[in-house]
Amino acid sequence: MSSSSSTTARTRAGEILGVPPPCNCKDKIRSKLRQSNSDDNPARRFYNCARSMVSSSTAQKPCKFFDWLDDPLTPHYKAYVDGLREELRKRGDNHEVMKLKKKVEKQKALRKAERDQFEAQIGKVKTRLNIVLFSAVVFVILLGWMMY
Ligand SMILES: [Zn+2]
Repeated sequence: MSSSSSTTARTRAGEILGVPPPCNCKDKIRSKLRQSNSDDNPARRFYNCARSMVSSSTAQKPCKFFDWLDDPLTPHYKAYVDGLREELRKRGDNHEVMKLKKKVEKQKALRKAERDQFEAQIGKVKTRLNIVLFSAVVFVILLGWMMY
C-alpha cells in the first residue's frame, strides 16, 4: 500500500524491519513512525516528517511527507474496530455518569451532616433556654414567697 519509496518492510506479525524512509525536506531527515487514531483509519501506522507540525511562526514550512505503513483495515475489521470503539465510548459515558452520581451522593451526605449538626445545636440552645426560663420562674416564686 506504500506509495513512495519506503525502505521499510513488515513481517506478518507487523514488526518493522529497516529504517523509516527519509522525508522530502532538503536535508532528507528520517520520518517518524506514528499511529492514526482517526475514525477512518483507527490504529493504522504511518510515517510523516518530524517537521510536519512546524508552527507558522517559524521560517520553515511544514513538511508534507506522508506514507502509510499499514494497509487499510478490511471492511470486516473496520466494523469490528468501530464496534469496540463504540463500546469503549459507552463505557466511558457510564463511567462519567457514575462519577457524577457519586459526587451528588457525597454532596447529599454533606448537606445531611450539616443539617444534623445545625439541629443538634438548636436542641442545645432550646435546652439552655428552658433552664434559664425555669430558673427565672423559680427565682420569681422564691422572691414572691420571701416578700410575704
Ligand atoms: Zn521533512
